Amino acid sequence: MSSRNSKLIEQLKKIDNLEIIERTSDVKRLSKDFYNYSPILEKKLDGCIADLVVRPIDQNSVKKVAEICWEFSIPLTLRGSGTGNYGQAVPLFKGIVMQMNCLNKIEEFHPETGFVKVQSGCLMGDLNKELEKYGRELRLLPSTWKTATIGGFIAGGSGGIGSIRWGFLRDPGNLIGLEAVTINEEPKLLRFDAEESEPLNHAYGTNGIITSLLIATDIKRKWYSIIIDCEGLNKTIEILKTCTTAAIDLKLGAILEKEIVDQMPSWFKGKSKSHKILIQSTLGGIKTIELICKKYEVNSFLLGEEDKLTNGISEVVWNHTTLHMRAKDKNWTYLQMLLPLDKEFELINSLREKWGKNILWHLEAVSQQGVPRLAALPVIKWHSSDQINQIIDNCKKLGAIIFNPHVLTVEGGGLGVIDSDQVKAKLKFDPKGLLNPGKLQGWEIKDEFNI
Ligand SMILES: Cc1cc2nc3c(=O)[nH]c(=O)nc-3n(C[C@H](O)[C@H](O)[C@H](O)COP(=O)(O)OP(=O)(O)OC[C@H]3O[C@@H](n4cnc5c(N)ncnc54)[C@H](O)[C@@H]3O)c2cc1C
Repeated sequence: MSSRNSKLIEQLKKIDNLEIIERTSDVKRLSKDFYNYSPILEKKLDGCIADLVVRPIDQNSVKKVAEICWEFSIPLTLRGSGTGNYGQAVPLFKGIVMQMNCLNKIEEFHPETGFVKVQSGCLMGDLNKELEKYGRELRLLPSTWKTATIGGFIAGGSGGIGSIRWGFLRDPGNLIGLEAVTINEEPKLLRFDAEESEPLNHAYGTNGIITSLLIATDIKRKWYSIIIDCEGLNKTIEILKTCTTAAIDLKLGAILEKEIVDQMPSWFKGKSKSHKILIQSTLGGIKTIELICKKYEVNSFLLGEEDKLTNGISEVVWNHTTLHMRAKDKNWTYLQMLLPLDKEFELINSLREKWGKNILWHLEAVSQQGVPRLAALPVIKWHSSDQINQIIDNCKKLGAIIFNPHVLTVEGGGLGVIDSDQVKAKLKFDPKGLLNPGKLQGWEIKDEFNI
């Protein structure tokens, strides 16, 4: 260990309420996330390991860590549960990984608005359980909701179960405010309102250490899960779109192509070898779904109340579909995109002609700025980076908006453009560029971080 590191550890050990993790195997494990879904990222990130990991227990210890990182000019990468897919929580330039999972208190519930103030390290599963006591639930959940933190979701996620109604995390109205610690000459805990929070929302922890969040919640409903069997991908898409525009409450609407269904856990596959539409709605909404199925002459199977099922359909949607495919064959990777409105099948058909069953289709119904749309997380049989780039080009030419999961930066995984407000916030709250260096394209890396 270098003398610089020994001095650093000496300083860190003086902080109250801070766990320091130095064991190599633990530091290695806590320097990784689920980037291995991308062979491109796997190649880039496998050797990226922090010098050490710290776990603060309160806001004061967070501030003290920020002070020491400033003093030593040492990179600081934040971590919730490390379930991200883009290598968001992987330290590219060594330094400290700070895991936020011990800051996990639910601080306030506001009955008049349904807003909840929660510390960033709270697990979304725990938060949802607590909200139930107030007759509320989270609007948006990643399919990793049982293990992911709310801070990690806001800083690194985008949407998921609930996006059919509530859109994406960055849509106005989902995040109401946050508190974050800065990393500058005198680190401070600052409070941000909804507008001021925007640059920190989905910034991979590059411009502030989020300690708590104020988020909007929904009325808790009993969600029922139903599976529809359908032949023909075009007709399957038409049925899902008919369901998503009906006057009913919906939590989820997805399509899995039959070759994907074949690879899902045995409880889910069912008997019929067909494409499947997966829907979560209220019991009242299910009646309408059943009517739609009758009109289209397709079979549906009501599984029951999602919360009471041993295996719920939340386990096979969003990126959990990719997880199950990869459990069978690690050569499956994936892409994420918003399909062109009303040209979804044309795009799929065109790609099928070129790439055959190297691409299997998994669609998710979402609301984009209030408009029902279809997103896709197709699983792709990996051949090479060139193949992935060609597929991306093909999709873009056909009108899809790509959220590329094979790149490291906030911008690359998003709309591909630099958000000047995110960069301005970094300049103000992290002027030395210590937070998660290398992940914000709009910020030039300082020489001292060159590996
Ligand atoms: C099988 C599978 C399914 C998934 N499904 C979805 C899905 O449906 N929707 C979706 O959006 N994502 C999904 N993901 C990605 C990921 O699980 C979620 O985004 C999750 O919410 C991340 O939470 P986390 O606590 O694991 O965050 P981490 O992975 O630990 O961190 C994510 C990012 O947030 C930053 N961060 C963490 N805590 C803080 C903090 N306190 N302050 C500032 N920055 C912070 C980290 O530095 C990192 O950049 C999936 C991943 C897998 C493997």
